[in-house]
Amino acid sequence: MSRHFNNQFEDAGRCEVSQDFYKDRIMETVDKILSGLKATSKTCEKGVYTGTAGVAYCFYYLSQSGIFPEHHDKFLKLAECYISPALDKHHVRSRKDVGLLSGNGGVYMVAALIYNKLGDKQKYEKYIEAYQNLASCCEQVDFLDGGCDELFVGRAGYMFGILALEKCTGVNILPLSQVKIVWDKVIESGRVLSETNNVGDLPLVYKYHGKPYLGAAHGFSGILQALLSFPQLLKNNRESADLVKKSVDFILNNCLNSGNVATNLDAALHGNGKFLVHWCHGAAGVIYMFIRAYLAFGKDERYLNACRELAETVWQKGLLRKGPGICHGVAGSGYVFLLMYRLTGEQKYLYQAERFANFMFSDLFKAEARTPDRPFSLFEGLAGTICFLLDLLQTNKADYPLFSVFLE
Ligand SMILES: [Zn+2]
Repeated sequence: MSRHFNNQFEDAGRCEVSQDFYKDRIMETVDKILSGLKATSKTCEKGVYTGTAGVAYCFYYLSQSGIFPEHHDKFLKLAECYISPALDKHHVRSRKDVGLLSGNGGVYMVAALIYNKLGDKQKYEKYIEAYQNLASCCEQVDFLDGGCDELFVGRAGYMFGILALEKCTGVNILPLSQVKIVWDKVIESGRVLSETNNVGDLPLVYKYHGKPYLGAAHGFSGILQALLSFPQLLKNNRESADLVKKSVDFILNNCLNSGNVATNLDAALHGNGKFLVHWCHGAAGVIYMFIRAYLAFGKDERYLNACRELAETVWQKGLLRKGPGICHGVAGSGYVFLLMYRLTGEQKYLYQAERFANFMFSDLFKAEARTPDRPFSLFEGLAGTICFLLDLLQTNKADYPLFSVFLE
């Protein structure tokens, strides 16, 4: 069976985003989470990715959106309730556990965001400090077996956490000189691997557990997106910026194939790649690296054209059967159109985002889409769906959760 439902929508049409309809769907989805997932020492496992810390982030995001001012306090309290078991458990984990998606890093980050808004200065400072302290770990080039640079456990995720904290608190979390140490390590690590893996003129190579993944979750595009998200560092370090640009261009010129990018580099170069249309692997995640490259490198149209091609693939094949999540589900596909809308202002993309949102409430989707293992979580389940639906109602702020593409 195909991985996706056939897209039977017209390619473009009049777009009406009904505030009332989606506000009702959001509140229904909130109720599903509250009745289906209790915050316990068991459900908090797996960090922000599929644990309660991610659900806490969703409630935090709801509280800050301005769409439900009457529920502001309630959502913030729920955020605290869902982060609590994750905080009780974090101390038993390894000190090397910097991971934004699957480790302590993300738990501290979300906790700092919540306590900041709750006005609990002591706890806010405690978790900011805990997050800052993880930087020293990232400064060791090989602090983990299996790869230290990707989003779930590695440096790229850590750098995104800094950006998210700074965006939400308005406070400088780490001095740029210290961020630069981590940023430089990602470059160094990529250079070292490229020396032993001579791949044409690709200057930076990354692997995760031996595999040169290209996607956002474990591979090149998430890591390069992180490097591209610090414009000041790109500006002041021309040699490194050039390596980043050459790497993005290598993927653009050698791996973009019929509107998608294969899951890993070897396969992409040998023409036998597996093509997925997920955020984690494939078009729906790689696109954000190209959006950032477009914004970072003088709005070079080549990157925007790549984004259009990838978005078209998501439109054709992104009604995923795997569920409603943002990692490998329909909300993840929908985010592509929301961000393309924010980037280009073209109505077509808003229309496409709305159609995908709407599809998740269709009888066909309800009857035939799979239920993910963690159905309420931020990345696989309904907490991520809520973030997407909220962003559909506030398109000028829409951004992919935790991995901001728009820095302002
Ligand atoms: Zn996924």
